[in-house]
Amino acid sequence: MSFLNSEKIVLVSGNSGKIKEIQTILSTSSIVPQQQFNIQEAEETGSTFIENAIIKARNAALHSNLPAIADDSGLIVDALKGAPGVISARYAGAQATDQENLQKLLDDMVDIPESQRSAQFVCVIVLMRHANDPFPLISQGSWEGSILNHTRGSNGFGYDPVFWLAAENCSSAELSAQRKNQLSHRGQALRQLAGFL
Ligand code: IMP
Repeated sequence: MSFLNSEKIVLVSGNSGKIKEIQTILSTSSIVPQQQFNIQEAEETGSTFIENAIIKARNAALHSNLPAIADDSGLIVDALKGAPGVISARYAGAQATDQENLQKLLDDMVDIPESQRSAQFVCVIVLMRHANDPFPLISQGSWEGSILNHTRGSNGFGYDPVFWLAAENCSSAELSAQRKNQLSHRGQALRQLAGFL
């Protein structure tokens, strides 16, 4: 990408699972996690994944004076009108753990039959060349599955143990990290971003 001249790009992410997945795909040494700059995390006040990714990337670019990449991702369940959506990370409350969020999802869906449990993981990645960039690069990925009524597998993070993939005959928590990267919403969005770059 000719208009991006910086050697370093700040990566916004507080989630160790996501940092690992992003670093696997963008395996370039010029990616620096936001934590190394002591940047305070921006509040995710947007009502869409795109808005929240822009808020986070702009905050990191502003405080580092470097280009910044931020992602925003989550789970969209059709029978719950899109919930957990942009609050996927705090579905069961502001300080909720992955386990508590997952349990709330199972509880909310206890009466929903198998045929109506479709869902998708979605991911938006934004690259801003500077805090006032009026034309950020935006890539997106989505991954179709359905929600199990019990957990399966122990790989991954978040809602992986209840995200069923019919074509793979397993949950996303039963996939290897490599296979998950090939299929996932985040893998798709990262490959699209890599294509832009
Ligand atoms: P974010 O930090 O605002 O992007 O929140 C993402 C949240 O969505 C995570 O905390 C998880 O709960 C959920 N999530 C996103 N991607 C995945 C995934 O690949 N597997 C499982 N859960 C995910």
